[in-house]
Amino acid sequence: MGAVATADGVVAADTLRITEIFYSLQGEARTVGLPTVFVRLTGCPLRCLYCDTEYAFHGGEIMSLEHIADQVAAHKPAYVTVTGGEPLAQPNCLPLLSRLCDQGYEVSLETSGAMSVAGVDPRVVKVLDLKTPASGEVARNDYGNVQYLTPNDQVKFVICDRGDYEWARFKLDEYTLGDRVSDVLFSPSHEQLAPRELAEWILGDGLQVRLQLQLHKYLWDDAPGH
Ligand code: SF4
Repeated sequence: MGAVATADGVVAADTLRITEIFYSLQGEARTVGLPTVFVRLTGCPLRCLYCDTEYAFHGGEIMSLEHIADQVAAHKPAYVTVTGGEPLAQPNCLPLLSRLCDQGYEVSLETSGAMSVAGVDPRVVKVLDLKTPASGEVARNDYGNVQYLTPNDQVKFVICDRGDYEWARFKLDEYTLGDRVSDVLFSPSHEQLAPRELAEWILGDGLQVRLQLQLHKYLWDDAPGH
């Protein structure tokens, strides 16, 4: 089914390693709740302490871009999200994104903020994480990505504690993120920070950010395939 490794193990140029392709409701960001096809690429160079997709670090199946596009099209979606792992860790993510845009979908890319988004098709909605101190990966943030953000993009902070919140508030000001993107998302780390507590901090400080709860965790308890 689309595996294109040759007999000598050489992988053809137009392929990606894919953990899963599935149809579900968007759990996060601006299109939360809308039916969406997810293409989850395998592999991530980061190891965030709260990672909920460790099953995507290894394994997966090599597929041609054409086969991936066919799998997506079978669901007749309006929205497609390319995620991981860290999708940009595989260079062929870029042509996949353009190909999906060419097919007429609204395409979003969930990326860790650790890899350059310079080459991402401008039609793609970038949902860029900035890793907070309690993620354990704050040193991996590539702040050069901020210059590539557009009013169609979104920035996400996963907040684990008050220290993360203060750090995110500082970054919000430092990079004038509210003026650059459509949405700044403050998401409480599941089972680490009570959503109500984060809500009260946001209101107390009058921050113009969106509190984001991860819908899929409430609906499906984070099971793969949703
Ligand atoms: S960047 Fe995402 S996939 Fe990679 S370790 Fe962090 S949370 Fe997990």
